[in-house]
Amino acid sequence: MNEAPIPVYDIAIIGGGIHGVTLASEAAALGLKTIVFEAGDIANGASSATSGLFSGDIRQLENLALDTVRNNLQEQALACKRAPHLVRPRLFALLDNLDVRSHRRVRTGCFVYRRMQPLKISRDDYHCPRAFLTKPFLSDTGNSIHVYTDCLLNGSRYTVSQALAAKAHGATILPHHRLTQAARLTEAKHWLLQVENPDQHPLSFHANILVNAAGEAASHLLQEAIQCPSRCQVKRFGGSTLVVRKPEWPRQCFTLQALDGRLVTVTPYHHQCFLIGSSQSPALEPCPQQEQQLIDLVNHHFQNKLSTDDIVHRHWGIRAIYDDPTCCDTQKSRQYFLDLDCPDGHTPLLNIFGGSLAGHRRLAIQALRILQPYSGKTPNQQQAESPLPGGDIIDGDLEAFIDELHNSYPLLPIDLIQRLANNYGTLSYRILQDAKRLGDLGQHFGHRLYEQEVRYLCEEEWACSTDDILYRRTHLGLVFSEEEKAALQSWLRGY
Ligand SMILES: Cc1cc2nc3c(=O)[nH]c(=O)nc-3n(C[C@H](O)[C@H](O)[C@H](O)COP(=O)(O)OP(=O)(O)OC[C@H]3O[C@@H](n4cnc5c(N)ncnc54)[C@H](O)[C@@H]3O)c2cc1C
Repeated sequence: MNEAPIPVYDIAIIGGGIHGVTLASEAAALGLKTIVFEAGDIANGASSATSGLFSGDIRQLENLALDTVRNNLQEQALACKRAPHLVRPRLFALLDNLDVRSHRRVRTGCFVYRRMQPLKISRDDYHCPRAFLTKPFLSDTGNSIHVYTDCLLNGSRYTVSQALAAKAHGATILPHHRLTQAARLTEAKHWLLQVENPDQHPLSFHANILVNAAGEAASHLLQEAIQCPSRCQVKRFGGSTLVVRKPEWPRQCFTLQALDGRLVTVTPYHHQCFLIGSSQSPALEPCPQQEQQLIDLVNHHFQNKLSTDDIVHRHWGIRAIYDDPTCCDTQKSRQYFLDLDCPDGHTPLLNIFGGSLAGHRRLAIQALRILQPYSGKTPNQQQAESPLPGGDIIDGDLEAFIDELHNSYPLLPIDLIQRLANNYGTLSYRILQDAKRLGDLGQHFGHRLYEQEVRYLCEEEWACSTDDILYRRTHLGLVFSEEEKAALQSWLRGY
């Protein structure tokens, strides 16, 4: 009996985080036959553990990394256009902490950042920090507020949207497929890849180009599965973000300065919650001291105190940073390095070390430029302005889009319309289809999650578990009870 031929791809990408799926989208748009292998769910790793920022990285001004900040801010403005429902500009109040940085230093930093910021925010907003109404809410530490603009980001949905864009361009996306082995077939001029599927069956693929976008596992993947030494490696830093429920806090964004110089952001999150996120810490396991430090810092500044009882969810993730021996740790934070390995001249391996959500598109374009001699395709900027799936909202005006959606479905409750618009943008039409009233949306799982949305997530967005649906794609896990989760799980088992 003849065995089925091994499928052949132009480019195989290991890792379904933001870097892997963005590169897949750009490569597939150039006409390359592209496949992504992801060991877990899309956005399984660091890409869903973020502090919820698409940031220009104001802290890099201290390192005089003006180009990095300028590039990040340009990417931020672009992302606001491409996915206005997922990337949203907000004013941030940076609170002085004179034990960490002088008032003058912070004021200058915010001034420079505002001057570099291409997003248009009204001058009044900057000149009237009182509009924040934060003062009465803050402890009387006697310190000033500095204002700047950054963007909030729904990291996991943004990554899923990039994966949808890749799929729309013809890429194959395979979640729950782990690369176990890769071998260069020098004679045949391609890679042989061994991949384990969800049933732990081994599958084989051929690819001309291999990209290691495994995030914090990049070095490990090189040693174990690809068995290819590299002069570069990633340094791993732990990071925790806390989701706290505080309906009484004003829905505004704050940046606090921790005593070790880190910036900690407190930003509005789904379902009356706030996200408290910090930059990297050397601990590689979640540690209670780190959590307590975050709580103490918030309580130092806010009158309405926070306790561990307010924590409703914790994200813990490992951030991969290119271990550049020429930089100190604070300078390393968002840098990435692309390392090409092609000793035989025919079977390139491109390793991605480090990076950040803010730089993901530039990284993908740069990767394709490096690979151009092997792929024969020159990356172009045509995709740069095109909306991500769901992001084709007229003038990026989300409020107007919510009105439009509600006019199309007048009998559906406004809180459902708002949640769908915020989460899916114009893909909401694809979910609601010709539903007239709630009864048309199928089984109700709680908190206005209906069968029709769950079916869409399973059929179009690769969801297969309650966590995929309730945490990475809808954030409804913050309000679902154990019974409601069990009902959803039992429906998924029968699906
Ligand atoms: C706590 C925390 C907060 C952060 N906050 C921010 C922020 O606010 N803003 C920002 O810009 N950045 C932030 N970052 C950094 C940002 O999240 C990362 O830079 C970015 O998500 C990295 O994306 P990635 O695709 O390289 O890696 P990942 O998202 O980790 O993706 C790598 C993927 O590779 C998969 N993989 C590994 N091995 C295999 C294998 N053998 N086969 C198949 N798949 C495999 C993994 O399952 C994983 O899904 C934060 C990071 C952390 C940890």
